[in-house]
Order: sequence, then structure tokens, then C-alpha cells
Amino acid sequence: MAPAGGGGGGGGSAARKMAPSHVLKCCQKVLAWVPVAFIALVVAWSYYAYVVELCVFTITSTGEKVVYLVIFHLSFVMFVWSYWKTIFTSPASPSNEFCLSKTDKEQYEKEERPESQQEILRRAAKDLPVYTTTTSRAIRYCDRCQLIKPDRCHHCSACDLCVLKMDHHCPWVNNCVGFSNYKFFLLFLFYSLLYCLFVAATVLQYFIKFWTKLSEHPCFEMDLTKMASLLDAAKTYGRFLEMRKNTGCYLFLQV
Ligand SMILES: [Zn+2]
Ligand SMILES: [Zn+2]
Repeated sequence: MAPAGGGGGGGGSAARKMAPSHVLKCCQKVLAWVPVAFIALVVAWSYYAYVVELCVFTITSTGEKVVYLVIFHLSFVMFVWSYWKTIFTSPASPSNEFCLSKTDKEQYEKEERPESQQEILRRAAKDLPVYTTTTSRAIRYCDRCQLIKPDRCHHCSACDLCVLKMDHHCPWVNNCVGFSNYKFFLLFLFYSLLYCLFVAATVLQYFIKFWTKLSEHPCFEMDLTKMASLLDAAKTYGRFLEMRKNTGCYLFLQV
């Protein structure tokens, strides 16, 4: 259907059209890592705050310090490990036997009637170990991946592939939660809860102390009297500047 002789020009314009979408995809891929980077920063900050600020500088008892640091590091390592595994375990896709053969694929694409397409799919799905149908008894097929979708398999538009036992696409791990990483995801939720509860429980008493004894903290030594004297100094300096300006004008007029 494409006009003869226009192949080269058409290819060039197609390449030009493809360029912005390619850039957009790259931007989407980079932006998809923003929530993961955010979580990583929060975790790094919490590590610094707990280990350095609380355990090293605030807690004075050595026994308490050691117990807190051991339990903290155990929960921290398990939390980071489960998070890492959830992010970097590739989603499982249906095996090659769920893909249509080349001839079936060609026939399927040529057919325009849904009934005939379903007949091709039914024939191909006959030998599969498992396949499911929709409520209208149609074989579930992914046009994008060109495969017959087994039970609980869904196409993820973010990952652009069919994922086995797909639960959801989680932006906080930038990955699909499904058959391959479901265990890691649940462990990640469990260890993150444990980590937060442990940190909250051990920090609570120092948190209360900090806010009730502000005057004892070195950062808050500046009391109202000192602030008043500082304000007085600022006022005196302002008056001095004013006086110097006036004197300057007077001297200028004298000359
Ligand atoms: Zn798919
Ligand atoms: Zn996904």
C-alpha cells in the first residue's frame, strides 16, 4: 500500500518520528527510578541518624549501644536485602511453548474475524499444560507479546511484557510484583515494618528527652536574654551606620 519509490524517504521520516518517542521512553525509564532513589536516600539518612547521631553521640551506656546496634544492623541488612531482591529479580514470563508458531502467527494476523482468530488460538492452546478462557469462553491472548496467557498472567504496560501470576506493578521498587519476586516483596514489607517499629521504639525516649529538655541541648543554648542582647547589638550597629552616613554627608557639604 505504501507508494513505490518512497521507501528511503519514508524510512528517514519514520526514523525522525521514532526519535522523540525513543527520548520519551528513555526519560520514562530514568524517571521510574526516582521513587527507588527517594527510598534509598531515606534509608541512608535513617542509617546515619540512628548509628551516628543516636548510638554514637547520644546514648552513653555501652551495653545499650551494643544491643541497639546489633539488632538495628540485623533488621537493616534483612530490609535492604529483601528490597534489593524485589527490585532486581526479573519478572517471570510464560515459556516459549505459550508463544504462537510462526505459521500460526501469520495466520492470526491475516485473519480479521475474531471467531477465526479464536479458532487458531484454540488449536495452538490444545497441547498446552494450562490455559484459561475469558467469561465469553475466548482464549486469553496478548497481542503485544504474541503469546497465549496462562492463568493469572497479565501484560504489564510499564515493563512491556506478560508477567506470570502478576500482582501489580510497584513504582517503589520499579518492578512487577509477581511469580518470581512475590516472596521477596512480602519479606520486604515485613522487614521494613520491623525496621520502622524497632527504630521508633528505641528512639522514642530520646525523642521525648530532646523536646522536653531543649535548654540542655547545645544547639539550644541561646536563651531569651542572649537573643535580647543580640537584638540590642544589632540596633546599636544600625544607629552607628546611620550616624556615619550623616557625618559623611556633613563632611561632604563642608568641602
Ligand atoms: Zn504481553
Ligand atoms: Zn511491570
